[in-house]
Amino acid sequence: MSHAADPGDLAGRAARALGDPRLQRAVRFTADRLRDAKAAATASLGGFAEWRERGREIRAHTIANVDHYLRLFARNLAARGGRVHFAADAREACALVTEIARQGGARRVVKGKSMVSEEIGLNAHLAAQGLEVVETDLGEWIVQLAGETPSHIILPAIHKTRGEIQELFERESGARLAPDTATLAGHARGRLRTRFLAADLGVSGCNFAVAETGSVVLFTNEGNGRLVAALPRVHVVLMGLERVVPTWQDLECMAQVLPRSATGQPLTTYVNAIHGPRRAGEADGPEELHVVVVDNGRSRQLGDPEFQAILHCIRCGACLNVCPVYRQIGGHAYGAVYPGPIGAVLNPLLEPDRPARTELAQASSLCGACSEACPVAIPLHDMLVALRARDVRHGRGGPGLRLALRLLAWLARHPRLARPLLRLGRTLARLPGVRALGPARAWRRIHAPLVPAPRSFLDQWHAGTGRDEVQHGP
Ligand code: SF4
Repeated sequence: MSHAADPGDLAGRAARALGDPRLQRAVRFTADRLRDAKAAATASLGGFAEWRERGREIRAHTIANVDHYLRLFARNLAARGGRVHFAADAREACALVTEIARQGGARRVVKGKSMVSEEIGLNAHLAAQGLEVVETDLGEWIVQLAGETPSHIILPAIHKTRGEIQELFERESGARLAPDTATLAGHARGRLRTRFLAADLGVSGCNFAVAETGSVVLFTNEGNGRLVAALPRVHVVLMGLERVVPTWQDLECMAQVLPRSATGQPLTTYVNAIHGPRRAGEADGPEELHVVVVDNGRSRQLGDPEFQAILHCIRCGACLNVCPVYRQIGGHAYGAVYPGPIGAVLNPLLEPDRPARTELAQASSLCGACSEACPVAIPLHDMLVALRARDVRHGRGGPGLRLALRLLAWLARHPRLARPLLRLGRTLARLPGVRALGPARAWRRIHAPLVPAPRSFLDQWHAGTGRDEVQHGP
């Protein structure tokens, strides 16, 4: 039901997603499988805590020195005949790709999976310039045919059932298809193969850029990445500026933690290392290789003690699969490009001026499952708390919230007055009529009703019972 373009506020989108049991079943089914596969794959590796710590160190060192490693990457790729362009924002990045396409006389574009291209709105931009753009990652093609956007960072069509995919394929091709996975995948392969052969520009993402040799590395499972990179005359790689790693030895650590955390595989089916455009005597590869390094709000996080570590992210998606909020509402309810815990932190940081982004920090129970799942130990839940605090400091919480927080702070400093007042509040809050009012009604749009305990924790503590009397509503 809901798509990324779904309007309204977070609570409204979440409420609509919660009313769609089919969506929840689809998301949970796959998220469970990914979560369990990750647990098995990391256990079979052994010593995953050490790999995780090594991963964290590599990412922290790289991001602390990202300007140096990006320069090194650009110099080394240039020495192999590639070109690196730097784009300050989405507009510049789209303009660069359009100009590369124009100079190469390109009309038909095939794309590999790239969340950065979603972030900068590349498809719409290229289409407006008259270019034909076809997604070739299976999940991306499915959401493109459906006129939607990805709802998971590694499984874009996680919200779709097989029956829905069958319908989409039949509508696009006019063919009648059996609803089994082999038939549907074979159909997609046949349809996309002709697009690869006709394309004159390939656009892909980038899992890692290795600075010491100026190489681009893609981890894929479908093989479309190497076709995008090798068949068209021109290949454009889009990468966020944080994608760089210093050395191949560092990449080895990333190769251990990324596929295991993303899909539970020891390694993806394909690992493509691209060292430049086609050289004399080589059988395939593009004549031109361009890498567009996108900033778009990332460099603002550098030097920020609370948020710099968000640039350590390797986009594995593991935090989504364990998040109790994502698992209930799916990705589109976030209403932004990056869903789940990583999105709840990253979107507000990349677009601080959009109020619709800042509310995403509320889409968390702060249980910490995301931080625990993260293979490079990003403290996501600490960042969510910091974002909430920042929003209140900036006055974005609304006058009601600010007043309530001031009142709570005052009560905390005056415990003698606080206890009778809180007791009165608790008694009132237990009245069904009061529970249907104002903020309580807003709470109940997306939460189970919470009925205060007859006696507060403090009262129980002082009475020495220590019993948990919190009551949840029916
Ligand atoms: S924040 Fe961590 S778990 Fe989430 S996508 Fe990034 S690397 Fe993966």
